[in-house]
Amino acid sequence: MTTIRSSFKCVPAPENVSLPDYFLQEIETFGDSPAFIWPKTEEIITFADLRVKIKQLCAGLQILGLKKGDVCGTYMGNNPEFVMLFLAAQRLGVVVTTCNPAYTPEEIVHQFSDSRVSYIFTEEEYIQRVEQAKASLPTVKKIILLESDSENRKYETLQNIWNSAKPGDDAILPQIHPKEDLAFILYSSGTTGLPKGVMTSHYGFIANLHTIKSLEYANGEMLLLDKNDTVMGVLPFFHAGGIITILFMLLQGAKIVINTRFEPQEFLAMIQKYKVTTLNLVPPVIVFLAKSPLVDKYDLKSLKNIYIGAAPVPMAVADEARKRLNIHNLIQLFGMTELGIIAFMSPVTAQSRRKDGTCGVLMPGLECKVIDPVSGVLCGPMDDGELWIKSPSVMKGYLRNPVATKETLMPGGWLRTGDIGHYDKDHYFFIIDRLKELIKVRGWQVAPAEIEAVLLRHKSIADCSVIGIPDLYSGELPRAYIVLKAGENASTEEIAEFVKGHVSSYKQLAGGVEFVTDLPKTASGKKITGRQGRTVTHIYKSTVGRP
Ligand code: AMP
Repeated sequence: MTTIRSSFKCVPAPENVSLPDYFLQEIETFGDSPAFIWPKTEEIITFADLRVKIKQLCAGLQILGLKKGDVCGTYMGNNPEFVMLFLAAQRLGVVVTTCNPAYTPEEIVHQFSDSRVSYIFTEEEYIQRVEQAKASLPTVKKIILLESDSENRKYETLQNIWNSAKPGDDAILPQIHPKEDLAFILYSSGTTGLPKGVMTSHYGFIANLHTIKSLEYANGEMLLLDKNDTVMGVLPFFHAGGIITILFMLLQGAKIVINTRFEPQEFLAMIQKYKVTTLNLVPPVIVFLAKSPLVDKYDLKSLKNIYIGAAPVPMAVADEARKRLNIHNLIQLFGMTELGIIAFMSPVTAQSRRKDGTCGVLMPGLECKVIDPVSGVLCGPMDDGELWIKSPSVMKGYLRNPVATKETLMPGGWLRTGDIGHYDKDHYFFIIDRLKELIKVRGWQVAPAEIEAVLLRHKSIADCSVIGIPDLYSGELPRAYIVLKAGENASTEEIAEFVKGHVSSYKQLAGGVEFVTDLPKTASGKKITGRQGRTVTHIYKSTVGRP
């Protein structure tokens, strides 16, 4: 019974550079190699272009008035501008909070008012939702569109901001204290409650990205890419998993074909056209690759590697996809926004060692202990318990939420993940269940408390509980158990429709609505107690991870 330490040599991350400047320094050697391919316009942006464009945008943002301490919010899909804006703003000491462009105005207001956003960057197709949200966001000074047609001339455009400076220009940079100053605030519900702002410092994120340098000493056990690799950037950049993997792969010199959203035929056609070598996916896309007849219509022979993470993967299906596509490396990643971000990765040798269902081994510089959630005792190999992780990249805390921070960040720098799992004799880790309330739908977070808060606004509902039920494609789907007020009536359709009006599509009650007189028990016998004195809210139990 002990604490497990990563077995890899750790190359410490630099402590005196900002996140964007670290990135710009590291990519300098890649020169004119392509960094991004933007299929919409067939534009190729090289690493050298990227360096010039980020600095020029930084100068333009400074002319506009952005300064250290401001918070800017993005509400946009995947595109090259997103990545450049993300880094350019941070060079000025501006903190970036990235919002899911599927969010309803209500959800935008929650995130942008909590983080006190003063500039919103968005796209023309989303402007109505942003305008609606802005009415409840007094801190917002400006909305900026990526590009604009004549009707929306009332808004500044990112293109104009770029053009207000010249190629070769740079801003006058403020002093950044990498361990203290925040680079970004992403939102996560953590172990309980509503989505909260996760404060990540410049140094914290560099520490995670810099593990690439340590993996170079792993004697080929861990997959590393190079400039011959072409990666499909399909994971949403606003999410921790999307942005880290993009930067992680760019730092290895790989090029990214940017895909705005997963559309099956377009996705397959892009792999064929750009000879994509590496995919970075959430489990539903693996199900699609394993099962869909469409896959046979395309030449996907260029594919060599698939990274997969964000939620448990049904192993039989993953194996089916691997064999069907003749993939050399199926690499599992375990990440968590609060951990900033990747904590486990499976070695390329995991398959030959028959480590089915593993989420991998600890990344360089990390430590993990498994704690029995009832007794608080340290568990040994193969014993299930909650994973506590120590890493230089752990968040600084939840924004303006000392109570939630105290419940998650433990003395000694340990972060409680809320995930239940174990390790084997070779220190491979397996996630088998969740202690926390989180539901994951297609890799996206759904906080039961958020849906329950919406349900409790319905005039007929006395109490409710939302849980995740297993689903092959989505992983889990939210289901609501409803106790009606005495003498009140409502149909399941009416309840589902009510929720639809308030939250984005993946948070809706696709797992069903059930009326009960009393809130039911979970599969393990614990009572699902609803908002008044809840104990456990999910009956999700992973079928993977147990040998
Ligand atoms: P997020 O902060 O949105 O990345 O969500 C983090 C949570 O997703 C983790 O605490 C886990 O519950 C889950 N998760 C991420 N990666 C994996 C994985 N490879 N296997 C099982 N669960 C995962």
